[in-house]
This record gives sequence, structure tokens and C-alpha cells, in this order.
Amino acid sequence: MNEYDIIIIGAGPGGLTAGIYAGRQGTKNLIIDRDMAGGLGREVPQMENYPGFDNISGLELIEKMKSQAIKNCDLKEMEEVTEIIKTDDDYRFAVKTNKDTYHSKTIILATGSSHRHLKVAGEEDFKGKGVSYCATCDGFFFAGRDIVMVGGGNSALQEALYLKNLGANVTVIHRRDEFRAQKHLQNQIKEVGIQTILNATVEEIKGDMMVESVILKDTQTGEVTEHPTNGVFISVGYIPHTELAKQLDVNLDETGHIIIDKKQKTNVEYVYAIGDVCIGLKQWVVACGEGAVAATSAFEDIQN
Ligand code: NAP
Repeated sequence: MNEYDIIIIGAGPGGLTAGIYAGRQGTKNLIIDRDMAGGLGREVPQMENYPGFDNISGLELIEKMKSQAIKNCDLKEMEEVTEIIKTDDDYRFAVKTNKDTYHSKTIILATGSSHRHLKVAGEEDFKGKGVSYCATCDGFFFAGRDIVMVGGGNSALQEALYLKNLGANVTVIHRRDEFRAQKHLQNQIKEVGIQTILNATVEEIKGDMMVESVILKDTQTGEVTEHPTNGVFISVGYIPHTELAKQLDVNLDETGHIIIDKKQKTNVEYVYAIGDVCIGLKQWVVACGEGAVAATSAFEDIQN
């Protein structure tokens, strides 16, 4: 019952695509995710660069991918993989979860990443009380209110636009004098009148019951000021989830991402990796492509 050809850990865009491809090869496959399918992909407010859709939310696209995946493989949500043990039998890996143990000939790590935190005073205390890492989840509460978005990448500017569209008064705070985000997003935030504070770091988040202000430090002059705000959205990048990879002795690069070859193979035989946990471009379309390649590689290796 619990024996599989391919077990995919993580049901984000890459993991779901791997499941779709794996099923169509005729192998017996399982996707396991400790949360609901979609991972951080569920939080993407809107995407305008996923082929086939002019504009679609992460949640909507994930639901479409999930319904396609479960026609092709088993899916266990809200079940956490705690340990992967290499074995000497035909099924080379025993995958232990908080509910069961599964056996598989191959493993695809699609474990994704989580939000990087600022690690400043007040950040933990005001989580859910004005501090948020997810505009799609919490933006609704800030219509008509003042908020700051911390970060200068694509995610920060996309989410700032989403929050502005909900009616929030948004100020983006970035630590350098130029944004990392693509030019078209920079142009869009100017067009819709989002204010920006550059060369500034958030030193502290303050308030009583809820967030009331942030303490900012000018990185050039050192001047410290207090900026009143009702909410602090933080979008300063991601940290890859590599705990299981480390258990398997999978090699990581100096930034902590899994090193893979063109066939999504890691240094460990029969272990593949895809998506944001790997080195490379962090894009849905890339994760999906990697999912297709990994499922095909696993199939070829099982056949051989
Ligand atoms: P990112 O590109 O890594 O940008 C993180 C931003 O946070 C950077 O501007 C960085 O500043 C800033 N930052 C990092 N640590 C900080 C700290 N401690 N304090 C203050 N600021 C800090 O992350 P992302 O925007 O989440 O994007 C992740 C990946 O997904 C990227 O590859 C991105 O291109 C991709 N993505 C693409 C799209 C799209 O194509 N539409 C949308 C979303 C994300 P510095 O610039 O100074 O380093």
C-alpha cells in the first residue's frame, strides 16, 4: 500500500507538476506536503508572466494544478515528512511522516522556502497585530489605512501594488538607493502614486496593542526617525527549506540552495530537487519545468 516509485516532498507549483508528469509515465507516485498544496505560491496576489494567463492569482492557478495532479498521483496534505532513511531493499528510501511511513525508489525534493524575517525588535511581538508577510492573506484589513512595505525586490513591489489596489496608503521602504525589482514594476508603483523611502532600514516596530510606527535609520546619514503606520508588510526574500536534503547528505551551495544538474539530479543517487529550494531562477514557470524534468529523470533511472 505504502510503496511508491516516486515520492515528491512539497506540493508547490514544481511538486504538483512533477506529480502530473510522473503519473502520466505510468509510475506509482505520492506527493506529501506539511501544509495545504501550493505553499507560498498561494500568497502570490497576481501573476502576469505565467504563459497562457494574462493575469491569474497564485491561489487560482494552484487549485487548477492540484485538481490536475490528483488525477495522476496520490496527494497527502497536512502531513509532515520528519525523516528520510536510506535502506538496502528495492525501495531505497523510507519516508517517515508524523502519520505514517512510506517507501520509495526515488525522492524529489520540492520543499520550497519560507519568508525571511527582518529580525528587529517588535517583529515577533506584532505578528498578526499589524506585522504580516502575506499581502494576499492580510491586505484586506488595511483598506484605507497607512502601511509600509519593507523590501525592494519583485515580490515587495508586486505586493505593494496589490495593497494599493485594495485602498491602502502604501509606502515602500528599501535599504538601498535603487530597487532590485524589474523596471516595469518600478514604473507601475510610480504611476499609481506609491511613496518610497530609500536608503532606510527598519530598526524597530513599535506600538501598544497594534503596530503604531516604525523606527527608521537613514543608511547614509545615520539619522533616526519615527514613521507612523498601521501595518508593516515584510517582503525581504526567502530561506530555502533544506532540512531533509541535509539528512540525505545532499550538497548545497554557499547560499544554502540545493545544487542540481540539468536533469535535476542532486549528488545523491535517486534524489532529485526542484523549485525554490534549488539554485537558479525563482519563478513558477521554472519550478514547473524542473518538475517535469525531475519526474522524467526519476522514471528513466527506475527503468535503468
Ligand atoms: P529578492 O529578489 O531576494 O529581494 C529581496 C529584497 O529584500 C531585496 O531588495 C533586498 O535588498 C531586500 N532585503 C533582504 N534582506 C533585507 C533586510 N534584512 N532588510 C531590508 N531589506 C532586505 O526576493 P523576492 O522579491 O521575494 O523575490 C524572490 C525571487 O522570486 C526573485 O528571484 C524574484 O525575481 C522572483 N520573483 C519574480 C516575480 C516576477 O517575475 N514577477 C515576482 C516575485 C518574485 P537588496 O536589493 O539591497 O539586496
